[in-house]
Amino acid sequence: MVIDSHCHLGDWGIWAISAEEKIKRYDAFGVDKGVLMGGIYGADWGGRDEAGAQSLRCSNFKYTNEKTLEAARKYPGRFIPFMWLNLLMPDAAEDVEYFAKKGIRGIGEILPLNCRFQLYCDAAFKVCEIAQKYNLPMASHTGPEIYGNPLHMISLAAEFPKVNFIMSHMGWYDQGATEQAILGASRCKNIYLETSSSSYPKLIKEAVKRIGAERVLFGTDNGMEEDGWANDFRYEMEKIKAAKLSKKEEEMVFGLNTARLLKIPAK
Ligand SMILES: [Zn+2]
Repeated sequence: MVIDSHCHLGDWGIWAISAEEKIKRYDAFGVDKGVLMGGIYGADWGGRDEAGAQSLRCSNFKYTNEKTLEAARKYPGRFIPFMWLNLLMPDAAEDVEYFAKKGIRGIGEILPLNCRFQLYCDAAFKVCEIAQKYNLPMASHTGPEIYGNPLHMISLAAEFPKVNFIMSHMGWYDQGATEQAILGASRCKNIYLETSSSSYPKLIKEAVKRIGAERVLFGTDNGMEEDGWANDFRYEMEKIKAAKLSKKEEEMVFGLNTARLLKIPAK
């Protein structure tokens, strides 16, 4: 069973992949399901930042979340809907409550780098309380930058041990940030490391060795086809294989762990 634990749909730029196209790619690469984490739609760009540019920073992502739920309804069993959330919006916590009742299965991808905030913040505490109430895992982008640094998620995970956290990219392209992500996950059993755009098969192997295979999740962060960049299916899948895990560990990383985390029956 293969589950892409990090993917997007949208109608703008690199996000311009329709649900139909996504399913075609899943079928071509043997992917059973995808955790759909929103995407950029022109209609969702609701405002301008202080420089006057249209920006994700101004978006409340409501339109995106409706489109995600729509895709999940249209292709039953193929998409697991998560919600995009901007913690800078004053109604972020209410939004989670609203979409939890509409059927979202998790929160994320939260985008501290794009939206410019630090994940360890008052708004995140409020959202974590709601995540705990509805048993929703929370995924957030991580990388070496101050916005999205793994340390912020580690701090949050230590305060909310009953909430499961998914570290999207497990520290991203940076070896130091990835090592911090692995260390944090070794201390907090409620942290899952997601492999999209992470750069080092050796560190994926190290993560499995240090925290066990149970909390490492395969993801593509878009599943583009053969674009020669991180995030294309072949690259992201080969990277897991290059980590030279045991067959059982590889199966867990490719899909069984995400199925267990999201209570999806395994094939
Ligand atoms: Zn992403």
